[in-house]
Amino acid sequence: MKLGGKIALVTGGTRGIGRAIVLELASGGADVAFTYRSSANLAESLVSEVNALGRRALAIEADATSMKSAVEVIEKTVAEFKRLDILVNNAGITKDNLLLRMNEEDWDSVIETNLKSVFNYTKAAARTMMGQRFGKIINLSSVVGLKGNAGQSNYSASKAGIIGFTKSIAKELASRNILVNAVAPGYIDTDMTAALTEEQRKAVAETIPLKRAAKPEEVAKVVLFLASSYADYITGQVISVDGGMSV
Ligand code: NDP
Repeated sequence: MKLGGKIALVTGGTRGIGRAIVLELASGGADVAFTYRSSANLAESLVSEVNALGRRALAIEADATSMKSAVEVIEKTVAEFKRLDILVNNAGITKDNLLLRMNEEDWDSVIETNLKSVFNYTKAAARTMMGQRFGKIINLSSVVGLKGNAGQSNYSASKAGIIGFTKSIAKELASRNILVNAVAPGYIDTDMTAALTEEQRKAVAETIPLKRAAKPEEVAKVVLFLASSYADYITGQVISVDGGMSV
């Protein structure tokens, strides 16, 4: 699964699945730039961890909702590493509530952080990748983007939107050898799911055929596969990494 000196950019790389993806891509041989919004200390420690793997790392503070900042992040990455081969759109948040209790701000911020960010970074990266005649774009969707979930209409809409976007852009960019896929994780043990009570955890685990949450690394390994040459004939797909939850 060697990435042989490829250059990757991961949005929201400091924690959870994003951090595991940064480390997995670096272990595979890529130099990795990553963005973060607030976790400066974690960004610093991640740079050291990537360097310890013998790869270069670049941490960039950037709010994924801003197109201007996405363009700057791509420029910084290309200035540092001279190209951009792999883009992983990972940054995401939840602001759960039932429809009648969901306010407009919670709708807007989830759509902007989870969906508009994917448009921002994909558009900003596309020109560089088109010039190279090579690119891998991997977007983090979710099982609830496929199935919906009561109390998560904003989050589910953002993740379903990512699937439509992924399939459309896969068709647009295929002629330039840019492959675009989505990964749809189920229930992964990260800060995002840490608020669940023990009782809620058990209840969710019961809905999963494999009867357990996944570790972030289990998602990151699938991202590594899609980024590698083993997946050079896969585009426009949504790969579920959910222990069978979506079946
Ligand atoms: P975490 O909450 O653990 O981490 C989220 C990451 O996103 C952090 O690094 C955070 O940066 C970053 N981030 C959030 N908002 C912004 C922003 N505006 N700009 C830049 N970075 C931002 O989440 P997970 O690791 O659990 O989730 C990662 C992705 O996987 C998300 O897209 C999520 O929707 C998806 N997913 C997760 C599942 C799960 O069960 N955990 C299931 C299905 C999908 P900072 O630390 O600086 O705030």
